[in-house]
Amino acid sequence: MNDIKLALLGSEGAGKSAVLVRFLTRRFIGEYASNTNSLYHKRLSIDGRQLNLEVFDPCSEQSSEARCILEEPVDWADGFVVVYNISDRSSFIRAKNILLQIREARVDNCKGDVEVPVCLVGNKQDLCHIRQVCEDEGRCLAQENHCNFQEVSAAESYQDIGNLFTQLIRQVMEH
Ligand code: GDP
Repeated sequence: MNDIKLALLGSEGAGKSAVLVRFLTRRFIGEYASNTNSLYHKRLSIDGRQLNLEVFDPCSEQSSEARCILEEPVDWADGFVVVYNISDRSSFIRAKNILLQIREARVDNCKGDVEVPVCLVGNKQDLCHIRQVCEDEGRCLAQENHCNFQEVSAAESYQDIGNLFTQLIRQVMEH
């Protein structure tokens, strides 16, 4: 049985918990009490392999403190999901900083030569009528950081979220 550890990072309100809960339960939970660090466990089978998945969802207050959120997860996680809200430009800028910090932390820890699998996620695609970040900007940022990219709506659909987690887990298994 493989153990896979993922961490979700991003601005408060970007929809990290909603994305994760959608993946784990296939449901959208509109208001989610996320005032503590949460560690979720799920057993799943991908490509015929049984996996123990652990996902760390840091509490929102902590995620506004750049250094302290990143210190633990960067050492701990095998892969990252970095979430921003397409209708909030400041969350995109935050995602950019987080991607940089992941790289820097890996270099500080002498792991910089091996790129950790990361997926950049533009959430709240259902709010595209008030979009502040176009899809190409997300795609370019992901390319610059050698990571996957997906726009999703935790509110409306499971499919893209399921696919992005599956793809990230496959990358971690091959890593
Ligand atoms: P977190 O602080 O990043 O964990 O964000 P939450 O998961 O708590 O979500 C913050 C708010 O955004 C909540 O009110 C959610 O209902 C809402 N939300 C999350 N995902 C979506 C989405 O895909 N579309 C819309 N319209 N709202 C969402």
